[in-house]
Amino acid sequence: MYDIHKIRADFPILEEKIYGKPLVYLDNGATAQRPRVVIDKMTEYYLRYNSNVHRGVHYLSNKCTDANEEARRIIQQFIGAASEKEIIFTRGTTEAINLVAYTFGEAFIQEGDEIIVTEMEHHADIVPWQMLYERKGARLKVIPFDDKGELRLDEYEKLLTDRVKLVGVAYVSNVLGTENPVREIIAKAHAVGAKVLVDAAQAVAHLQVDVRQLDCDFLAFSGHKLYGPTGIGVLYGKEALLQQMPPWQGGGEMISEVRFEKTTYNELPFKFEAGTPDFIGIIGLGEAVRYVEQIGRENIRRHEQALLDYATGRMKQIPRLRIYGEAAAKASVISFQIDGIHHFDLGTLLDQMGIAVRTGQLCAEPVMQHYGVTGMVRASFAMYNTPEEIDKLCEVLGKIEKMLNI
Ligand code: PMP
Repeated sequence: MYDIHKIRADFPILEEKIYGKPLVYLDNGATAQRPRVVIDKMTEYYLRYNSNVHRGVHYLSNKCTDANEEARRIIQQFIGAASEKEIIFTRGTTEAINLVAYTFGEAFIQEGDEIIVTEMEHHADIVPWQMLYERKGARLKVIPFDDKGELRLDEYEKLLTDRVKLVGVAYVSNVLGTENPVREIIAKAHAVGAKVLVDAAQAVAHLQVDVRQLDCDFLAFSGHKLYGPTGIGVLYGKEALLQQMPPWQGGGEMISEVRFEKTTYNELPFKFEAGTPDFIGIIGLGEAVRYVEQIGRENIRRHEQALLDYATGRMKQIPRLRIYGEAAAKASVISFQIDGIHHFDLGTLLDQMGIAVRTGQLCAEPVMQHYGVTGMVRASFAMYNTPEEIDKLCEVLGKIEKMLNI
């Protein structure tokens, strides 16, 4: 039984009024809200246990260290990783991808090698590879998508040669909502000896993500899109691969022994976690995952898919509204435009009515170029959104069309 009222009551911010109107929060793709249990858990640790991890002999330090490592185990199980050593805490998806671009890049990429990304990648899964190109001379190739927003796998196959060393692919597009066939993409990449990084920033809150089922080599996601804190994220990597990669940042915790002549490095995952981590953020993320598991990912998915279907049907009735991305497998994201209204104006008018959406290029300029637009409006739904909120959105969009007399 999916008790939407109970779920909404878990998120204090949903009670807020914006300009005196009830908040309708449809910007979950940018960041989701946090349930009270996450905020409480972090507050408890700040108030009662705050102390640096891994370095202490005293009670408080051990308490935080234990909670940190427990969070790592929770996340390991959440994504089906084989070992805790494969879970590396980062600041978010962006940092996780940069870590791979630097260290995998350092160990495995030579001049003339190729990296494949998709036309629908977020900038975070494009720019680090271009920077690698600057350093190493590896070429970037792109899998295009069709107008429905589905990847052209026939084109992908043509790009796959033994020069390809890595494929970077979004599990779910942050603009089009497309759920890409990553398992198939991974199997094809492996057949030519390439590794695959899955950008799961938009996937983990909506899909059952299992790294061993996917057989991906790397997977990255951010806590703040998963009902967890900001500033914390995860890089999953296959242990054997991580072992072969050099560390990225140097400093405390990532070392085994430091001598001026030579320093040796710590074992996984600490080799990649230099300096004091955001340990209270990590504890908060563990709690967020626990919360999501308690609601149940299948239940969340069913609820969000019903919202997506309902919203798509209603929005299609708005005469001048165009939806971008109509893939058969799609997560609860709708990017759109209304002909004759600038996306920024539309976002501002919705805001006046208490409705929070995202506008602009959505950190995916190639997608904008594909459709020849300067920006879009994006409504993205989470576990706590309701059909009534979609009614409100559509009612206001309808009024805006009338008001502007277009
Ligand atoms: N990839 C995708 C698909 C995203 O949607 C986002 C966030 N919009 C990112 C990467 C970057 O995430 P973060 O800013 O949390 O590092």
